[in-house]
Amino acid sequence: MRYISTRGGVEPVSFSEAVMMGLATDGGLLLPESFPQVDGLTLSRWAGLSFQELATEVILPFVGEDISRDELADLVERSYVSFTHPEVTPVVDVKGLRILELFHGPTAAFKDVALQFLGNLFELLLERSGGRLSILGATSGDTGSAAICGVQGQELIDIFILHPKGRVSPIQERQMTTVLDNNVHNIAITGTFDDGQQIVKLLFNDLEFKQNYSLGAVNSINWARILAQVVYYFYAWGRITGGDVSKKLTFSIPTGNFGDIFAGYVAVRMGLPVERLILATNRNDILSRFIKSGVYSAGEVHPTISPSMDIQISSNFERYLYYLMGEDPQKVKALMAQMVAEGRIEVSEEKRKEVETLFLAAAISEEQIVEQIRVTYEASGYVLDPHTAVGVYAARDFPDTVCLATAHPAKFGDAVKEAIGVEADLPPSLQGLMDKETRCETLAADGEAIREYMKSILANR
Ligand SMILES: *Cc1c(COP(=O)(O)O)cnc(C)c1O
Repeated sequence: MRYISTRGGVEPVSFSEAVMMGLATDGGLLLPESFPQVDGLTLSRWAGLSFQELATEVILPFVGEDISRDELADLVERSYVSFTHPEVTPVVDVKGLRILELFHGPTAAFKDVALQFLGNLFELLLERSGGRLSILGATSGDTGSAAICGVQGQELIDIFILHPKGRVSPIQERQMTTVLDNNVHNIAITGTFDDGQQIVKLLFNDLEFKQNYSLGAVNSINWARILAQVVYYFYAWGRITGGDVSKKLTFSIPTGNFGDIFAGYVAVRMGLPVERLILATNRNDILSRFIKSGVYSAGEVHPTISPSMDIQISSNFERYLYYLMGEDPQKVKALMAQMVAEGRIEVSEEKRKEVETLFLAAAISEEQIVEQIRVTYEASGYVLDPHTAVGVYAARDFPDTVCLATAHPAKFGDAVKEAIGVEADLPPSLQGLMDKETRCETLAADGEAIREYMKSILANR
């Protein structure tokens, strides 16, 4: 399998190159040249597989000749031993609600499903090439801890994660700073999350620095993250339908960067029987406005109780736009340039209707999130986290929808407590965090300071 850029400016690259490249060198995003097709017989057979066996089947055609079946099976096996549920991503029935629990990984958010895999994948590719990697990322909470957890202790990787000092939740901060492996470098910047993202962009655009220190990305622009997430759509379908290909399912996905829902789109393109994908946003609603109006335009970011979805520009949306524009990279390039110049793009009514044949959109208010957590708790005793509640609310009119649960409720204890008056029990991975030793460097929110700090650490490697 070869990978191409949504903007057409990259010669097709292999899977390994796509994973190491992260963002395409022409500023676009990487996509497979085609989608492997899964027929009905195969779907039925897959319904009997374990999560790990299924992951190997789903991922294998995308890696092409870069990784053998045995190597991949081993990689997958190692990536999910850290999950506390034997099914990895179980579907639970909550009084008629179908919840696909994606939070049984080591940091209690769905990002572990992809980042545990990506960490091991990086290690395998670096062992082969003999290279090193310096991961740099900014986080508002969940991504940082999941990324750190995915690569801690690895000899060929250093990871630098910027978080805004005092502006992430105490649990989230501890999840990052209690990891003491010497390849992990937490940096608290005296600034905001946006400052952190600006610094990351600045350093990635310093091509000499990027090249000399082999900077790598772990956010969902990395194709391997999307790929690992395709698996659980197939898994949930198999568990629920038992492999009956006449049965189509609807999924509801709490959405921020369009990564998780794009993985669902990939599953559909591969042949998974899906009725609809419900795109559920909080009041940061750029994506739901697009589906309803055809206009994609950024507003201001509003802080909400589902902070991991407080996003205005969705980095993965460009991947979907590529297909909507008939796989024409010139059109995508023009639209993205227009977005930069005018802050707004619009698609024709015909295209918008095409979007609606698969996607349904809903934007959920703060009050509705709290209400949903309460209603579900009162009806069943099941505790939703605020992100999951966004998706559950959006699916209210669509019975039997599979709602993706993207975080453990204890991770967002304050919002949960406000809704139902009780705090969710901490999963084992989050217990005792407050008593552990921490390590973290505090630096000014200044690109130069961060670059010098990175250089001083990496000089000894
Ligand atoms: C990252 C995240 C999301 C949003 O996922 P995208 O792939 O960015 O759409 C939703 N819920 C939680 C808990 C998250 O951490």
